[in-house]
Amino acid sequence: MQRRKRSQGEFSQAEEPVYREEYLGEYAVDTPEEEEEQEEPGISKYVLGILGGMALLVFLLILLVSLIQWLKSDMKSALVFLENGLKYGELAMRVNWEDLNRDILNCNRCPLGEGCTRKVPGQGDPHSPLMFIGEGPGEQEDRQGLAFVGPAGQLLTKMLLSVDLPRDKVYICNVVKCRPPRNRVPLPEEMEACLPFLRAQTVLIRPKVIVLLGSTAVSAVLGKEYRVTRCRGQWFERKGVWILPTYHPSALLHDETKKRDSWQDLKMLREKLKELELYEALRTGEDGKA
Ligand code: SF4
Repeated sequence: MQRRKRSQGEFSQAEEPVYREEYLGEYAVDTPEEEEEQEEPGISKYVLGILGGMALLVFLLILLVSLIQWLKSDMKSALVFLENGLKYGELAMRVNWEDLNRDILNCNRCPLGEGCTRKVPGQGDPHSPLMFIGEGPGEQEDRQGLAFVGPAGQLLTKMLLSVDLPRDKVYICNVVKCRPPRNRVPLPEEMEACLPFLRAQTVLIRPKVIVLLGSTAVSAVLGKEYRVTRCRGQWFERKGVWILPTYHPSALLHDETKKRDSWQDLKMLREKLKELELYEALRTGEDGKA
């Protein structure tokens, strides 16, 4: 008790450690060296803390950038999905053949409408499970207002008969409904303007199999990156519909060597129709819809 009343300065250097030992008891009595040693881990911890914080910041930054990228791509696909959904939803609710054909006949959505003699919506069985899509009307089609009635159309009829399919049991139409000048390939903006009509026809017909005749139909339906020369003879499935790209009959008229591949494609079509149990109904003229 007496020692505790004294100030620290009253003890000699020899007494001080004894006092401190008695005072602090079991608690550590640090030497100056030990205190110094304790400072080093303190600094390291500080540096490590800064480094750790920086690493965490970089990690969070990468996470944030990735999240923004993901959201952007997801939003984009969500918007495309919504747009398509609205298009198809709207069309399915309000489109009927009468309105659609009237809209096509009155259409001036692109310059092709002014240059053509007659609009060519398409023809055939509107309830057929099998649909053929070509590029656009030619001279004969433009005159008659009917799809595939010129030399290429006559060849298409023969191609169908070669696999025992009557032409009037399928639906035949084109990507654009008006003849392009001098039978040129329709421009992307002309195709874009006319595509709602093709979409509406597809919604009304609800085909189970679609045959794409030539590159224009292939790029309009499957996408701009697809070419008939690369993807013909392959099946594509979109929303439960089987799609087969093949050569346009006019390409066969210009190059007969393509007929061999075309025949292989027709046999593939026949096999797919059999597999889907549609062939007999189409061949015999009964209702092919399930
Ligand atoms: S090609 Fe199609 S979009 Fe252009 S005017 Fe004819 S129907 Fe209309």
